[in-house]
Amino acid sequence: MSEGCVFCRIAQRQIPVEPVYEDTEFIAFRDMHPQAPVHVLLIPKTHYATFMDIQDEGLLGRALLAVQRTAQAAGLADTGFRTVINHREDGGQTVYHVHWHILGGRFMNWPPG
Ligand code: 5GP
Ligand code: ZN
Repeated sequence: MSEGCVFCRIAQRQIPVEPVYEDTEFIAFRDMHPQAPVHVLLIPKTHYATFMDIQDEGLLGRALLAVQRTAQAAGLADTGFRTVINHREDGGQTVYHVHWHILGGRFMNWPPG
């Protein structure tokens, strides 16, 4: 738990959340400002500020399995989706608790902005 971190507060259920997916290590919930008809954020319950702070290959592997399970739970597995990590300033990161965006429900344009 990192003091003042909004995603830690969600993970600890200090802020009400309706999980799209949850297991012992991860929780996924809907983005408050969705950029697609389906826009879900997957976070580890443990605080890591950025993607580059995770060195544990087991955790990284389980995170990608959790992305798969979240996409399945959100109904995106067959139609398709995009998963994104925004890393630091140039990546557009605004919340410094690592998260995977899972976006779908429409065609996702390429290249991204
Ligand atoms: P970033 O720009 O860091 O990659 O993405 C942060 C995302 O978190 C943004 O899409 C923003 O809308 C979302 N977000 C920020 N605060 C909250 C919150 O308190 N609840 C939810 N559900 N989403 C949030
Ligand atoms: Zn946090």
